[in-house]
Amino acid sequence: VSGGPVRIEHDGAIAVIVLDNPPVNASTARLRTGLLAALTGTAADDAVGGVVLIGAGTHLMSGSDLREFSADEVPGPQLPEVLAAIERHPRPVVAALSGATLGGGFELALACDRRIALDGGQVGLPEAGLGMIPGAGGIVRTARLVDPDRLLDLVVTARRVPVADALADGLVDEVVPDGLRRRAVAVARTASKRVLTALPARTGTPGRVEETARRLLARRGADPVVVAAVGAVLAAGALPAAAALRHERAEFTRLRRSPEAAAKRHLFFARRAAARAGRPERDHPVRTVGVIGAGTMGAGIARAFAAAGVDVVLVDRDPAVLDRARDQVGRDGAGSAARVRTGTGFDALAAADLVIEAVVEDHDVKTQVLAEAAGVVRPGVPLATNTSYLDVDALAAAVPDRGRVLGMHFMAPAHRTPVLEVVRGAATSADALDHVLSAARLLGKLPVIVGVCDGFVGNRIFSAYRYQCELLVEEGAGPREVDDALLAVGVAMGPFAVADMSGLDVAWRARRRRDATRDPRERYPQVADRLVEKGRLGQKTGGGWYAYAGGDRTPLDDPEVARIIADVRASAGVTQRRIGPDEIVDRVLTATANEAALVLAEGIAARPGDVDLLLTGGYGFPERLGGPCHWAATRPPADLAAAQQRLADATGPVFRFGDPALLR
Ligand code: NAD
Repeated sequence: VSGGPVRIEHDGAIAVIVLDNPPVNASTARLRTGLLAALTGTAADDAVGGVVLIGAGTHLMSGSDLREFSADEVPGPQLPEVLAAIERHPRPVVAALSGATLGGGFELALACDRRIALDGGQVGLPEAGLGMIPGAGGIVRTARLVDPDRLLDLVVTARRVPVADALADGLVDEVVPDGLRRRAVAVARTASKRVLTALPARTGTPGRVEETARRLLARRGADPVVVAAVGAVLAAGALPAAAALRHERAEFTRLRRSPEAAAKRHLFFARRAAARAGRPERDHPVRTVGVIGAGTMGAGIARAFAAAGVDVVLVDRDPAVLDRARDQVGRDGAGSAARVRTGTGFDALAAADLVIEAVVEDHDVKTQVLAEAAGVVRPGVPLATNTSYLDVDALAAAVPDRGRVLGMHFMAPAHRTPVLEVVRGAATSADALDHVLSAARLLGKLPVIVGVCDGFVGNRIFSAYRYQCELLVEEGAGPREVDDALLAVGVAMGPFAVADMSGLDVAWRARRRRDATRDPRERYPQVADRLVEKGRLGQKTGGGWYAYAGGDRTPLDDPEVARIIADVRASAGVTQRRIGPDEIVDRVLTATANEAALVLAEGIAARPGDVDLLLTGGYGFPERLGGPCHWAATRPPADLAAAQQRLADATGPVFRFGDPALLR
């Protein structure tokens, strides 16, 4: 066989089947067709004494091509058919693993009689991260190699296992530092058949898999992926291999077709597109970062950089705040703590390759701070602002060289969130952008590049969401009812609990900034202002939308809040109505999608996937819905249009319709 993604090379009596499907040797219908033909051909050839499967590039097979999973049927021949041909092959088949051998790739290796791995690579079953379980024997065959509790953990955590560890677990037979092909050929000459499905499943320590299952289910709720994984692992131990393989495949197919898996695939492709767009043209070494402001965000940003091995100069005018920040950074260990130098003067910023300001959200304070920093830092060092809402172009005007100013919007908690919103100003230079993209890479955060508007992408859409939540409260829903309705569809935290955590003063200040320009016809929800006027700024003052009992973060219903809401409704002449959870969810999620469409129309976000990454990664929007754009784009168009109309009617004359066509 030659041409196409599979070729056969002969090494004496050993047939070396080379998989060559750039860039990452993913399993596609074409590859599987070639592989099946090569297996059938070598099985029929009496001159062949053994077979080696090896990749032409970095990987043997990195995994399945996810695009195939979006179709109702995966195009044939499907992987199980190919794996059955390996097991049926009359001669030993040796897998030569290199690079990442994940998902379908690892399942291919498991069907072989021996697994020889090149050091430095990884194996794993990442399907759970994509809303599925393995479907080509990944569970049934691994059940012959490791105890069921380990297997369940591997499947549910979707962890990548370095081959050195995989060797200790018996998942691979041998690890070689080099000479992979030579070694695999030598093994193929002497090995005998060893078909995993012909071996008994391991039973493990009695009771342990049940214990693991209980723990995982408790932690992940009734996540259908966890439930299916538990079922498939138990089936692998209890059923004959052929029946267990059928069960595994059926469960895989059911989950693959689910809306949750489609949402996860959407986010996977969105990540890839954002990573491509966020690749710096030139990588800039960022060895020292200056952070101004050591409050909630500044401390978190310092912590993130220190953990990534970057030196940090952390500046705040308040020494007590610096002490607290040092404690926080120290939670990651003495190594992290040693990387952070703190002080009240700006002079130390001269050492920085990148400066990020995270002082209070106030235009005048920020321009002052940026101007002062510009006078200290080396020429060309970018000055990034962590502002939530402020006009980055107006802030840039405060420094002589505007090209070096841009937004680097970390979301809380800054040391954990997987995404970074990078705000490119009108004057931002390519060089400054490259610095920030390089820094994001160091942090292991996915940068999403956006444009300037009030709140950028994340906070602008989140504000539209919160605005509708507040309107719903004035119309009759309680804060708890709104939070519960949204928790039930998977948001990480209810919007009112979030407001209490972040502090009501931030949004209050944002509203005050808009007072002068607000359209008088706009519906203005009053409750949040009343809460702030009463000093109820959230958790930090012991109460906001909820009450908090001394130091505890559990939100408690508060009669005072109920009275304030009742007063506001009465003075606005609103007749309270019952609002069910479906209406709440429909209204606020439609608001996020509508705002997303506006953001896309204005070119503030480049792709719907970018919006979805920011909202799921930074704001706790449910991944299982795929983000506001995916959620809306997968609704029947007539339903979405009707929901937009209801939203428009509820919002009033200032409502602007976003074009749903932009969400796909
Ligand atoms: P914070 O009040 O916790 O911290 C601000 C710090 O800045 C304080 O420690 C203060 O002492 C210091 N500061 C003020 N003026 C200074 C000056 N002239 N020189 C040096 N230090 C000065 O505020 P925060 O919540 O960390 O927010 C900081 C910024 O990050 C704001 O722009 C905010 O909008 C933004 N942000 C906040 C969040 C959040 O969830 N808290 C999320 C994303 C972005």
